Amino acid sequence: GTALTLSLAACGGEGAGSSTDGAAGDGDENVKVGVAMPTQTYERWIQDGGNVEAGLEELGYDVDLQFANDDIPTQTQQIDSMITGGVDVLIIASIDGTALTSQLEAAAAENIPVIAYDRLIRDSENVDFYTTFDNFAVGVAQANALLRGMGYLDENGEETGEEGPYNVELFAGSPDDNNATFFYEGAMSVLQPLLDDGTVVVPSGQTNFDTVSTQRWELETAQSRMEDLLTSTYTGNDTELHGVLAPADVLSRGINNALQSAGMGPTLEDGLPVITGQDAEIANIKLINDGVQSSTIFKDTRLLAEQAVAAAQSFVEGEDPEANDTETYDNGVKVVPSYLLEVETVFAEDIEPVLVDSGYYTMDEVESGQ
Ligand code: BGC
Repeated sequence: GTALTLSLAACGGEGAGSSTDGAAGDGDENVKVGVAMPTQTYERWIQDGGNVEAGLEELGYDVDLQFANDDIPTQTQQIDSMITGGVDVLIIASIDGTALTSQLEAAAAENIPVIAYDRLIRDSENVDFYTTFDNFAVGVAQANALLRGMGYLDENGEETGEEGPYNVELFAGSPDDNNATFFYEGAMSVLQPLLDDGTVVVPSGQTNFDTVSTQRWELETAQSRMEDLLTSTYTGNDTELHGVLAPADVLSRGINNALQSAGMGPTLEDGLPVITGQDAEIANIKLINDGVQSSTIFKDTRLLAEQAVAAAQSFVEGEDPEANDTETYDNGVKVVPSYLLEVETVFAEDIEPVLVDSGYYTMDEVESGQ
């Protein structure tokens, strides 16, 4: 029930597709677009799917929207059947960015343009466009939010003069998701100099991407790694944990579960370590509003859906979509022309101006967490 309400809320008002109203293609019943989304365990993908579908339907296109349960064979099958079903364009948020090569070859053979959605599809020439957020900037924002949450930076990003040392633990996303590397590298671009000069310390010593990554972005995996870290590094000594770099809100919840079970908190005021996030999931926005989670990074999926719909429409009309970045996203075979959107950091005081005033959530949803 929750997910449905949210996806409807995200579609309402200034929903995706409004900027493409009235464009050519209206009423063209023959255009069909396949939309492959990875999973419904993250609220954002449900919103992404719903918003993309609504925007395409507003143009009069038929839509085949599928979610793949984070299972690679399911996703490859779904894309195969979209191709045999005669789609004219594919919009794909991949599970494993390297696992779609044969589907992409089939698409290319049928002249079906492929738009990578949010996550870059790697190792293939047959990726025509990429709509995403500035993923390196997400990581930079997460590290800055961690430092601000712990008191090293103020709200303007200036040093407060509190010199630390700050004990932190680091988490990264799924190693098969190209974004996970960008988030981590963005974060480390901020943290590495502070690790080098001792302002920030990782008491477990675990800083290597492979060691700190979280397969398939699963909550339970992050929770159990956090439990293990507490046992191995923070139990039976005076080492205090001050902050955790969490790359996504679902993982932040797992990490918070582990900290709460160990008797920390329940709120930041009671000494709960600072936890970062990403996606502004409603459950986490409630945690931020309640003073439990410190921050998240808001990526407006309405705008991403709008970009993907506009790109699909350009391809349908035989044009190249408008890119604003043609340098960053090398997929191993070619640099994929991209449209990057900006992100916003959200602390408790930003919930109302950024999320409520823009209609992303209502105050009731923020307070109830659903
Ligand atoms: C997305 C994040 C999301 C993560 C897990 C990433 O590719 O960019 O927004 O939190 O996947 O679903």
